[in-house]
Amino acid sequence: MTKKILIRYGELTLKGENRKDFIKALKNNLLIYVEPSDINMEYDRAFLEYSDKNLNCLKYIFGINSYSIAYEVDNDLIMIEKVIFDLVKDDNTNIKTFSINSRRHLKTFKLNSNELNIYYGNYISKIKPNWRVNLKNPDLKICIEVRDKKTYVFTSSFIGLGGMPMNTSGQTLHLLSGGIDSPVAANLLQKRGLKVSFLNFITPPHTDKKTEYKINEIVKILTKYQGDSTLYQINYTKIMNYLSLIQNQKYKITLMRRSFYRIASIIAKQNNIMVLSNGESLAQVASQTLESICNISSVTNLQIFRPLLTNDKNETILISEKIGTYNISIIKACETCELFAPKNPVTKPKINVIENLEKSLIEMKDLECEAIQNMKIFNYKV
Ligand code: ATP
Ligand code: MG
Repeated sequence: MTKKILIRYGELTLKGENRKDFIKALKNNLLIYVEPSDINMEYDRAFLEYSDKNLNCLKYIFGINSYSIAYEVDNDLIMIEKVIFDLVKDDNTNIKTFSINSRRHLKTFKLNSNELNIYYGNYISKIKPNWRVNLKNPDLKICIEVRDKKTYVFTSSFIGLGGMPMNTSGQTLHLLSGGIDSPVAANLLQKRGLKVSFLNFITPPHTDKKTEYKINEIVKILTKYQGDSTLYQINYTKIMNYLSLIQNQKYKITLMRRSFYRIASIIAKQNNIMVLSNGESLAQVASQTLESICNISSVTNLQIFRPLLTNDKNETILISEKIGTYNISIIKACETCELFAPKNPVTKPKINVIENLEKSLIEMKDLECEAIQNMKIFNYKV
């Protein structure tokens, strides 16, 4: 009798023709953590050799609906009975009710699902005469899956991350700050199968080592969900100083954001990345009103994905706690945007005002190109 981890696929079961590709992608994701010889992928299930390491890594793999620690035995009534005996033999006073939930995939197996339930229900009643059957809410639920080659017996399931396997949806260039929102947004994009590359703007010496430490730690955590990552880091100090010269200070953040997205577009196109993304929530701050979002995104013809658009902050905080970025995000450090923000930023920026201000910034394009040329690139691997 061997112990295995039985994995149920997530939404990929719905994908018809593409199913094979999704299963292959899920296998590649598992291979980030698991030895090839430990993996067996089937049409509707994956099986891993049981180990703590293999079990733990499933916390980072998208495309999994749920998983169970299962005993694997031959397709044989007596062998299955032995496993069930081991599961129920101890005197556990907490258990008063049970159910058997069988699934027969192997249609030639001598008992069908219903007959299996009755057969093993009777068997348990003999060993534990005081236990009652309760199909709705049993203290102990024994699941039996008779498959083509082997049978799996298990008593509980863990919920997986859901979503689509990594790298089934292409790539995004994600604007990452050290705040709470953008790491969460990145993880939600990973959940839908997008591989995330990161773009971060720093303004040393105003931003300090702590700012860079936060970004580094956040990218390390998010890399666990995709195996490897690239971080593009732009020194934005010169541009920020130049932007500070403009007459209408209320527009500083609007112009800075437009510049962020011009730079992001160039880097994305250089690296064949099709979309940009960020951690914006509608109306969270002045630069995230409808007018700001529209007049900022108009600098690029790339789509900008905003998975947190409709989130309240407390919803986002819950996710950041779950994925482990929250404690890093709340470390106090000097962030580029906060340092630069005017007292009363414009909430409804006008495009004609923006364009007039930008006309006066004749060195802007050159400074942006220079910043891209001097960009630092960091590679991460789990
Ligand atoms: P917070 O939790 O403080 O809101 P945030 O990351 O959402 O953090 P915002 O000031 O709301 O910060 O910025 C909106 C979005 O702009 C961010 O989600 C991020 O995508 C992008 N952004 C902000 N600052 C930077 C930066 N220094 N480098 C790269 N992207 C940034
Ligand atoms: Mg935010």
